[in-house]
Order: sequence, then C-alpha cells, then structure tokens
Amino acid sequence: MLGGTFDPVHIGHIRTATEAALRLGVSRLDLMPCHIPAHKELPGCASTHRLEMLQLAVANEPILGIDDREMLRNTPSYSVESCEGLRGEMKSLAPLYFVLGNDAFAQFTSWCRWHDMLALAHLVVVARAGESLEYSAEMLQLLQEREVTRVADTSVSPGGSILRMELTPQHVSATEVRRKLQAGESVRYLLPDDVIEYINEHGLYRNSAAQ
Ligand code: ATP
Repeated sequence: MLGGTFDPVHIGHIRTATEAALRLGVSRLDLMPCHIPAHKELPGCASTHRLEMLQLAVANEPILGIDDREMLRNTPSYSVESCEGLRGEMKSLAPLYFVLGNDAFAQFTSWCRWHDMLALAHLVVVARAGESLEYSAEMLQLLQEREVTRVADTSVSPGGSILRMELTPQHVSATEVRRKLQAGESVRYLLPDDVIEYINEHGLYRNSAAQ
C-alpha cells in the first residue's frame, strides 16, 4: 500500500505506486487515503473529493487499487491501525509492503506505535526528486538494524525490514499542484487528465469556500 493525503493525487503518486508494485513483484498495490492526518494539517479538500479523484486516477491501472479503511474511521488515521486491520484480513503471513516517500520516512520514529507498524509490514522507502534529507541519529540506527538491499530479502518474513528503492524521480508534490491551481496555472501532465477535469468541474483548490 501507499498511504497519503492525496490532496490531490498526482503523477508522482501513480508512477511511484506502479513502479514500486512491479519492482516488488506484487499483483496489487492499494493507495490508502487518510481521513484525518496524524502528522499534517487537515487536508484542504474534503475526503470524499480526494477519494473520488483517486478512483479516477486508478481506473485504468489494473495493478492499482484503493483501500478506503481510513475514510471509515473518525479518529486520526494511524497507519499502524490500518496495517493491523489489513493483516487481520490476510489469510497468510505473506509480506506486506508499506511504500512511503523519503520525507515521510524521515519522520517515521515519531509515528504512533512505529515499532508495531514495522513488525506488521516492510517499509519501502522511495526518494523524492531534488530532496536531500538528513536522518536523525535514531533513524540512522534503525536503518542500520533493519535495512535490506534486495526485494528477495523481504520475502522471508511478513514485515520488519526497510528497503530503499531507487525509482524514476518524479518532480511533483501536492503542495506545488495546489499552489499552481490557486494561481490559475496549468497542471497538465502533473495530474491524470480525468483528475484535472474533476477539479475544474468542482472548482477545487481555487478558493476555500468551494471545498
Ligand atoms: P503535500 O505536498 O501536500 O505534502 P505530497 O505530494 O507529499 O503532499 P502525500 O499525499 O502526502 O503527497 O504523499 C503520499 C506518499 O507519497 C508519501 O509517502 C509521499 O512521500 C509520497 N510521495 C508524494 N509525492 C511523491 C513523489 N513525487 N515521488 C515519490 N513519492 C512521493
């Protein structure tokens, strides 16, 4: 899965998710939109709009799906609870992969019950274009203990490893997309066309009243 606010979903998410799925050899990768972010401000756009945009974004991509479990909880969207739910539904101890950008990973040890989260899934960390992040001493220690370098190394356990994966860098962020929309600039090729159409139809990200 790839968790996020998807406010809105953009090409960086879609390309990262499809490329990661192929590299991991999984048959399906779910985008998991959070309802109430635990580590960010509340999204500018309602959960229902974010979910609809995701549905449009994955409609033509058979390997991608949506897991809307966090939309169904009215409490902060802690990834550990979502992983627990998912693990409970799985009939085997097959590996579970949680894909996240380096920016999100750099904060990982501040996540709710992160030890439990890591026991439930492998973390697949992807670099974001143009970023250079410094890890805290705690994160460096964690990498030292848990990092593996090959996908094959993760297949022996349900979770617990950290795999850094080099994917094609995607130079786009939702923050930049929102800024462009607010400024009336084009976002063509940064988002799927259907998502752009949806944003225009609903007047999203142009002024707060519309959202
Ligand atoms: P914002 O700019 O509002 O912070 P975002 O573009 O980072 O949003 P999120 O929904 O927060 O989007 O991202 C969900 C996940 O996808 C996070 O783990 C994030 O690091 C990752 N991600 C987002 N954009 C990219 C990208 N261009 N390349 C790789 N990973 C990305």
